Amino acid sequence: MITKLIRKNILKLKPYTSARDLYSSGILLDANENSFGSTFQEFEDLHLNRYPDPHQVDLRKAVSKLLNVKADKLFFGVGSDEIIDLLIRIFCEPKEDQVMLLEPTYGMYTVACDINNVETVSPLLNDSFQIDFAEVVKYYSGKVKIIFVCSPNNPTGNLLNKNDILQLCKTYHSLVVVDEAYIDFSEPSASLINEVNNYRNLVVMRTFSKAWGLAGVRLGFCAADEEIISYLFKVKAPYNINALTRYAVLKSITNEKKKENAVSAIISERLRVETELKNIPAIKNVYPSDANFLLIRLPHAKEIQKQLAEKGIVIRDRSSQPKLEDCLRITIGTKEENDILLAKLKNILPLRH
Ligand code: PMP
Repeated sequence: MITKLIRKNILKLKPYTSARDLYSSGILLDANENSFGSTFQEFEDLHLNRYPDPHQVDLRKAVSKLLNVKADKLFFGVGSDEIIDLLIRIFCEPKEDQVMLLEPTYGMYTVACDINNVETVSPLLNDSFQIDFAEVVKYYSGKVKIIFVCSPNNPTGNLLNKNDILQLCKTYHSLVVVDEAYIDFSEPSASLINEVNNYRNLVVMRTFSKAWGLAGVRLGFCAADEEIISYLFKVKAPYNINALTRYAVLKSITNEKKKENAVSAIISERLRVETELKNIPAIKNVYPSDANFLLIRLPHAKEIQKQLAEKGIVIRDRSSQPKLEDCLRITIGTKEENDILLAKLKNILPLRH
């Protein structure tokens, strides 16, 4: 079934063979590298004068152990943003195929489709920001090759029902890509990562940019059936993941406790900020969140976002997205940052209402 969904040119693609595909040790005079060493002195052991392993062996092994997913089912990208783009390029014929997005959701799916000249169809989520199957049916056709599902969803913050997502996998002959960028901030049982063993059309994406605090190193990954993974390896740039990124992530994985502490602190701050925001009468809605941010609805949202920015507090205006009129998204910061945000917000709002 997966083979049927893949673009014909990708099925036929003979991938680039890099020097490190063939040999990785010996006197390496095969890749036009600089044998005299790197000009960057700080990380001599990383041999930065050499191209990194194209097969992502060390990362696959480490994350396989961390999440109990087979190494052969893992692929790493330069952030999950790279994986979004690669999946569209593997599965969607420009100007012919379609991608389904459940709006409102993460804006990069649309941009990646636009870059690839792939049309999007966008059924809306229901008023609880859950999948509305009546809407999905209206928009679905055989042209839809990928359905992106973001859970917890950005910017609404909520998890989508697991059974609904699996229902999509069972019902539709399309790839279902579940973006779990924010999953660490929700119940561990909410993840669908182990379901990749049961559904061949399911891809689960994760990132080191959020809970792990490594947005600057640019590493995302996905878990999926080996066949899908093999196509991702075929189309990626030969050495997409650099040696410094690998070093940072492999070191961080040994420091999982620090990540867990940060996640607990963010969740307890989220609960505190949520309560405080609910006590501000001008705020009409504080939506429940399973992520590291809160979505709020209040009159004159755009203006309030601007006023806060003038005071040095930067939050995101989401009011131009479907169903999100007058909505702002607030990332949970440290206690001190959140206190300042709350104080400035309280300071602005009574003057207006
Ligand atoms: N998915 C979602 C839902 C996101 O919100 C983001 C980042 N804002 C990403 C993916 C991209 O993450 P990365 O840093 O791994 O490219």
